[in-house]
Amino acid sequence: MAAPVTEVDLHVHTTASDGTMSPAEVVRYAKEKGLRAIAITDHDTIEGLPEGIEEGKKQGLEVIPGVELSVDFPKGTMHVLGYYIDPTCTGLLDELMVLQQARAERNLRMIEKLRGLGIEIEISELKETPEHGQIGRPHFAHTMVKKGYVQNIQDAFDRYLGKGGPAYVEKFRFSPEEAMRFINKAGGVAVLAHPFTLNRPQQKDLEDVIAKLKAQGLDGIETYYPEHSEGQTKIYRHLAKKYGLLLTGGSDFHGLTKDKVDLGEGYEDREVSYKLVEELQAKREARLRGLS
Ligand code: AMP
Ligand code: ZN
Ligand code: FE
Ligand code: FE
Repeated sequence: MAAPVTEVDLHVHTTASDGTMSPAEVVRYAKEKGLRAIAITDHDTIEGLPEGIEEGKKQGLEVIPGVELSVDFPKGTMHVLGYYIDPTCTGLLDELMVLQQARAERNLRMIEKLRGLGIEIEISELKETPEHGQIGRPHFAHTMVKKGYVQNIQDAFDRYLGKGGPAYVEKFRFSPEEAMRFINKAGGVAVLAHPFTLNRPQQKDLEDVIAKLKAQGLDGIETYYPEHSEGQTKIYRHLAKKYGLLLTGGSDFHGLTKDKVDLGEGYEDREVSYKLVEELQAKREARLRGLS
């Protein structure tokens, strides 16, 4: 196995959301790959954290508690990562419950839409896919492949599940400001995930978005990411520095759900080192001092 260039991977999914490895498996895999720390950042849930942290202690690998929230953003996709959130913070748990309830209702509506298109799927079948946790569109895609309705996952998204597709249902989302407030209140550090998905190719437009987020509580930008081009990385790095934001990086590993992405790979840069973990911790401590 190739030795990783990085020491840390700050963006990792598990079966608690739509990854295909359990939290304990991901931690063991990270250890095998020689990483020093990973952040578990499942979509809209922190249910994978206790298992991951526990396995981290056994393996001698630091597991940073995290979460990835999908927020409302016109004409683009915005995800906000929260690091070092306190998993016992009841305010955050309540907000995550709102998202989970909304997801459950959305899944029922997608089942109905698919039924109208001649595709019969039961909720129980969605629970049997390689991603066990929070049910979302990847679970639908896997089930549709398994039942022979589509050729592969991409086909399922292209023909039915993609945004605007015939089985697509909008997801309830918090505003970016709300999401960052929940993260900050739980003592966490808020980082803008993979800015390329914002779909703001003009640097000026992107800068306006980032300036606004900064004013609302943003702490960092996920500058290093497998799908960022060199040009994009350069712009994100420039904006992070200009606005006094941390520069982070991660693979967005999902196991088999994203088979071109491997843990600890694809975002290598000398700035993605253990130093980043210390910077995140320092930010968090400053935040906690501010809260007390
Ligand atoms: P959901 O949260 O249910 O809307 O599902 C979002 C997840 O679906 C993302 O994290 C991706 O893993 C996957 N996904 C979204 N769009 C596509 C696409 N066009 N092709 C393949 N996977 C996708
Ligand atoms: Zn995902
Ligand atoms: Fe994301
Ligand atoms: Fe992600």
